[in-house]
Amino acid sequence: MKIEDFFRDVPNFPKEGILFKDITPLLLNPKATQFCLDSLTNSLIEKKIDKVIGVESRGFFFGILMAQKLNAGFVPVRKPKKLPYKTISASYALEYGTDSLEIHVDAIQPGDKVLIHDDVLATGGTAEAVCKLVEQLGGEIVQVNFLMELSFLNGREKLAEKDIFAAVTY
Ligand code: IMP
Repeated sequence: MKIEDFFRDVPNFPKEGILFKDITPLLLNPKATQFCLDSLTNSLIEKKIDKVIGVESRGFFFGILMAQKLNAGFVPVRKPKKLPYKTISASYALEYGTDSLEIHVDAIQPGDKVLIHDDVLATGGTAEAVCKLVEQLGGEIVQVNFLMELSFLNGREKLAEKDIFAAVTY
C-alpha cells in the first residue's frame, strides 16, 4: 500500500497559486489510515512517549490515534483564544505577518517525553513554534512527525536538532 495514493492535490486552495495537499481521502479509508498510523508509530512503541501533541487542526486526526496507540496523553496545540484554561503562546512568521499557537500550561510536565505531530511540514515555522512551547514547559521532544514533508521548502532547517519523520516525502 502507498500512503501517497491517498493524498490529493487541490490547485488554488486556499488561494490562487497554492497547490494544497489534501489528506481527507486517507481519512476516508480505514485500512490506509491504519497502515499510515502503523508507519508513524512503529519505531516509537519502545520510546515510552508520555504526550502526543496534535497541531490544530489537521494534526488532531492522527495525533489522537497515535496517542491511543502509544498509551500516551493527547495535547491539542491551538490557534489563539481557543483553549479555555491558562496558556502560553509562541509566534511564528507567515508569508505576510505573524501568527501564534497556544498550549495549556499544565499539558506537559517537566521531563515528559513528547511526540509532536502535524499533517504537513512545509517551511517549518509552525513546528518550530510548537517545539518552543514544549521546551518552555520542560518537555523532552522525542520526535516531530508528519504525514508528509514538502522537502523543497526546507522546513527541516528550522528543526535542525530534532529527530524528524515523515510518512511521505515530496
Ligand atoms: P509551515 O509552518 O510552513 O511548515 O506550514 C505547515 C502548516 O501549514 C501545517 O500546520 C499544515 O497543516 C499547513 N499546510 C501547509 N501546506 C499545506 C498543504 O499543502 N496541505 C495541508 N496543510 C498545509
